[in-house]
Amino acid sequence: MSWNERQRRMLAAMGVRLWSPAPTAAPAAPSPVVADAGVATAIAERPVEAPVAVVAAPVARAPAPEVARAPAAPPVSPPAPAPARATTTLAAATAAVQDTLADSVLAERTAHIATLGWGPLQDAVASCTACGLCESRRQTVFGVGHAQADWMIVGEAPGEQEDLAGEPFVGPAGQLLDQMLRAVGQSRRAPSGEGREDDQAGDPSRRVFIANTLKCRPPRNRNPEPDEMARCEPFLKRQVALVQPRLILLMGRFAVKQLLKSDDAIGRLRGRVHRYEGIPVIVTYHPAYLLRNLPEKAKAWEDLCLAQRTADGL
Ligand code: URA
Repeated sequence: MSWNERQRRMLAAMGVRLWSPAPTAAPAAPSPVVADAGVATAIAERPVEAPVAVVAAPVARAPAPEVARAPAAPPVSPPAPAPARATTTLAAATAAVQDTLADSVLAERTAHIATLGWGPLQDAVASCTACGLCESRRQTVFGVGHAQADWMIVGEAPGEQEDLAGEPFVGPAGQLLDQMLRAVGQSRRAPSGEGREDDQAGDPSRRVFIANTLKCRPPRNRNPEPDEMARCEPFLKRQVALVQPRLILLMGRFAVKQLLKSDDAIGRLRGRVHRYEGIPVIVTYHPAYLLRNLPEKAKAWEDLCLAQRTADGL
């Protein structure tokens, strides 16, 4: 008895394996139509007789002879997906929902910070727990200077001394920054001293406002993490919006990354005018870098002169 192709396919769909021997001219090499090597071997050892179909090793679904006679049984459903796969899919969906929630919380916080005036903004910074740095800081470092300064200076993050003093750039890098500012007729301080918040003492064209990308000190002065920068960014954004400076001076790569969203080296970015929210931006080396690379001070001086020309030219 022989099977046509359609019948073979039907039986295969039902899980019934067939064996059909090779023509008797080549009895030693039957050609099993089976996928299973073990079954093929067993079948190959059987004596070759007539070319009769054999139902071999039927799958447990139905007894072989009946299956062979059954005209059109429905195809057997594929096995259910492995549970591990389902778990992975569920975990991915849960993670996606969590990401979306986190994004919307972040967006809501950003929108809220964008509405704050100086006092509430200082309070929001002082009580911020948006990242892990709140656990190791002594205090937050909001910023210092004239609240309507023409020049706004942005550094990286508080170091140990800033964390102690609650003011940016008070360590050795800060002393160099003060010298550099003096050289172009700028200062963080008013001649008569200044107030704590919404400080408007003195001439805004002669007093700068200094802030950092991060308001809290990273432990052991390590580099800011991207997540910390993202969570702190709304504060700096709001400071810029409140000060409305005529010029922003970015010191170092983290300030550049935060406001210009660029990873380019300072050497490639300095010497020209960039823009942040329409405000002219000059890029220069961080004072701490200058302390380690004194010959670069000449370039920093050129950058300050460009900043001065840019601010004056407006
Ligand atoms: N370096 C900075 O970038 N900011 C500071 O406040 C102190 C050191």
